[in-house]
Parts: sequence; structure tokens; C-alpha cells
Amino acid sequence: MSALQVIGDPVLHSLSPVIHGAMLKRLGLDIPYTAHVVKRGELGEYFAWAEKNGVTGFNATMPHKQDLIPLLDEVDGDAALFGAVNTVVMRNGRKIGYNTDGVGCLAALEEAGMWPAERVVLLGAGGAARAVALKLAGSGAKTVYVCNRTVEKAEELCEADPNGVLKSAGFAPEALAGLCGSADVLINCTNLGMAGCEQFEDLGFLEALPSHAGMFDLIYHPEKTELLSRGERLGHRVCNGLPMLIHQAIFALEYFLDRPLDHGEMGEAVRDALKNR
Ligand code: NAP
Repeated sequence: MSALQVIGDPVLHSLSPVIHGAMLKRLGLDIPYTAHVVKRGELGEYFAWAEKNGVTGFNATMPHKQDLIPLLDEVDGDAALFGAVNTVVMRNGRKIGYNTDGVGCLAALEEAGMWPAERVVLLGAGGAARAVALKLAGSGAKTVYVCNRTVEKAEELCEADPNGVLKSAGFAPEALAGLCGSADVLINCTNLGMAGCEQFEDLGFLEALPSHAGMFDLIYHPEKTELLSRGERLGHRVCNGLPMLIHQAIFALEYFLDRPLDHGEMGEAVRDALKNR
């Protein structure tokens, strides 16, 4: 018996059961994937429960991504670098942690024709920004400006970069415009523009982007943020966060099943399921 889960608190709103359910169905595998509320501090109890109940892998969302690390037998390279785990495989009595956010973002950028890129302006320095910035820094970018409202958090993130590619910067519109002038791609990793969250007060800095620059927003709800709408009106290629969400899930399922999957086929199954839910 095998079962997969997503754990977190809150977690019942998660799209992961729909996404993984669609992929497992397309693969003809009768493996349940369910959401399970696990409160902060209760990971030890969860592991005991999971082992007894045939759980062979799980995805983790807040508040567990960092707390999992000391509880695992092995932590993969990206997860160790980001200091966060979003996928855990339980096999042969061992618990192994991975992080698929960085590789998921890279695959989505490539698919959108925005990667490889040399100069990146990245907005935000939270959990998602950390994974994306460090992945791009280790994947050939020459400079990634990490621009954050709380500049100390941007500085801390840049210090974690072993490649010296990340440079910290502030979030004032004039500073952003200065950096955007030479950007190949702009990536929004803040909450700004997400449904129910605050909006960018001033998007004038987008006018400074060169015409070839792509724009990628990690947000997928709404489907098109004000940032992307404005960028599209200015003639830029734009992409929202759904392809990243889908690719990171496919990479996670590859770890769970221990075999490569066709990202095109899996992506199609997921998009159909999301449309029809
Ligand atoms: P997080 O750790 O809470 O970080 C939030 C970031 O947004 C911080 O840099 C924060 O700046 C900034 N921010 C929040 N409010 C702001 C404001 N009013 N003005 C300026 N900056 C503001 O969140 P996260 O986990 O990194 O997630 C960030 C976004 O990425 C969310 O919208 C999430 O849904 C999305 N996401 C998408 C995917 C995907 O697969 N597509 C994956 C992960 C996350 P301070 O440091 O100054 O507070």
C-alpha cells in the first residue's frame, strides 16, 4: 500500500491534491494523494502516523519547510542550499528531503522563452524568492538583483549565494527603474498583486525595461496580475506562476515515483483537471 500527501497548516485550500491526482490518474496509478493538516511542532507525530499508514512521500507547505530539515536522514543539494524542503520521500526506512521550487521556476522560464538570461531583476526576498534567486544564481545568470522592501532580508539572501551572483537592492520605484534598464527578465516573487493582497503602488519602473525583457510573476491568482497586464501592454512577453506550480509538482512526483515523467503530458493532465474542477 502506498499513499501520498501534502501537509501544512493551513493546507485544505491547496491545489496539490487536484494536481497530483490528475497526474496519477493519467499514469493509471491507483495511489491516493490527500491534504493533511499538521500544525507547527507536530512533525514528529506526523512521521510516526505516516509510517504506520503507508505514506511513501509528501509535499510540505507552511509552516514546515524549514522545520523538516533536522528531522530528515538526507537533504538534497537545492533543499540544503535554500534551507527549505517541499518534498519528502520515505523509502527503505529513510526520509529524504528535496526542494522543487527552483527547478520548477527554471523549467517554466525556459518554456516561456525567458531562460537562459544574464541579467535578472527579482522582486522579493521571502521563501519563494530565496529558492528562485539561488537556483538562477547557480544556473548561469551573471547578475541577479534581489530587490526587497526590507533590504536586510535581501542582504541576508545574497550572503547565502556561493556564486556571488546575487546583489541586494531596495524597492523604491526609482531604484527599480535604474536596475530594470539592463534586465533580460523581471521576476516578481512578492505577494504584491495576489488576489486579496496589496497591489504595487507605482508600476512606472516597468517603462525602463528593454523591449526584449520577459516578465514572470510567481502569482497565478489572479491569472494575470496588474504587473503582467501592464507589461503586456508595453509589448513584453509575460508568464504567470501556474507553469512553475505545475513543473514543481511534476518534479516532486518524479521523486515520489523514482522515475522521469513526460512534463508535456503531465502538464496537459493538470491543466485539464484545473479547468474542470
Ligand atoms: P513570503 O515568504 O511571505 O515573502 C513575501 C515577500 O513579499 C517578501 O519579500 C515581502 O517583503 C514582500 N512583500 C509583501 N508585502 C509587500 C508590500 N506591501 N510591499 C513590498 N513587498 C512586500 O512569501 P513567499 O512564500 O515567498 O511567496 C511569495 C509569492 O510567491 C506568493 O504570492 C506565493 O503565492 C507565490 N508563490 C508561487 C509559487 C508557484 O509555484 N507559482 C511558489 C511559491 C510561492 P518583506 O521582506 O519586506 O516583508
